Amino acid sequence: MQGIPLTSHDEQLVQAAQAIIARLYRPDQHHVGAALATQSGRIFTAVHLESYLGRTTVCAEAMVMGKAFSEGERDFATIVAVRHPDADDAQTHPYVVPPCGMCRELMLEYGPNMAVILPHKKELLKCQARDLLPFPYRQEG
Ligand SMILES: [Zn+2]
Repeated sequence: MQGIPLTSHDEQLVQAAQAIIARLYRPDQHHVGAALATQSGRIFTAVHLESYLGRTTVCAEAMVMGKAFSEGERDFATIVAVRHPDADDAQTHPYVVPPCGMCRELMLEYGPNMAVILPHKKELLKCQARDLLPFPYRQEG
């Protein structure tokens, strides 16, 4: 995969995602955090929501896009999600995770020019959201 090197702004975004999940981590309920930078320079953060009984999950990436959108932001620049390690995890700090398929679709719709930070071969890289979903769903064939 072709990736773009991370800038210091990207590293700050990763740290913002790590900070919110470190603060709000709850086993079985909140273990993923996300941060979103807008073209206007604002940074939004959110954690995912999970219903243990219903097995329903709303991803942190969807939460943070919804939060920024609800605050009037329309031009998303960069997004990242991190997972807080569980007690038996080899990792000790929240680590970057790639977006799921549903989030890739949402990213493409709400931020077609948005970049996504994700892990690749033990390094972090940035790529375009559209590169993560090369054959997106379209209503008209
Ligand atoms: Zn997702």
